[in-house]
Amino acid sequence: MPGAGPAFFTRPRWPTGATVHFGGTYLCIEGPQFSTRAESRIYRQWGVDVIGMTNLPEARLAREAELCYATLALVTDYDCWHESEGDVDVQGVLAILQRNVQLAQAVIRRAVPQLRGARSCPCSRALEHAILTAPEAIPAAARQRLGLFLERYLAKEGTRDG
Ligand SMILES: [Zn+2]
Repeated sequence: MPGAGPAFFTRPRWPTGATVHFGGTYLCIEGPQFSTRAESRIYRQWGVDVIGMTNLPEARLAREAELCYATLALVTDYDCWHESEGDVDVQGVLAILQRNVQLAQAVIRRAVPQLRGARSCPCSRALEHAILTAPEAIPAAARQRLGLFLERYLAKEGTRDG
């Protein structure tokens, strides 16, 4: 979220008891899969803090929908680089994943009421200059399909067929 968010989001420890690491580098890999040990070591050398499989498409879709977006990454494992932790396996991930679902729900229950007021960030106008197709060349079906997101930008351009 651009700009200063509510203090809730920047606390080092949330009321849920979870430790928060604010910021970091997220690497989005194609999945579902686990990294090889070589990949895991390379990601660490690159300075990657968290590896996941969903955030890049989520962030892009949110941008296209002019939604603000923030990542709440709840870690399930150390991948396979850690010397004293065992390599990641499905059972371990699933057990932690279930706990993380409860934690995520608790965080969201507490965070959503903190989100009040009008947005001043550029997210709400992200599509303003994104339509490169000439308005008269946009088919009615496309206008209808994308109308929820594009209506306010296309309406002022006029339409060929409606
Ligand atoms: Zn925003």
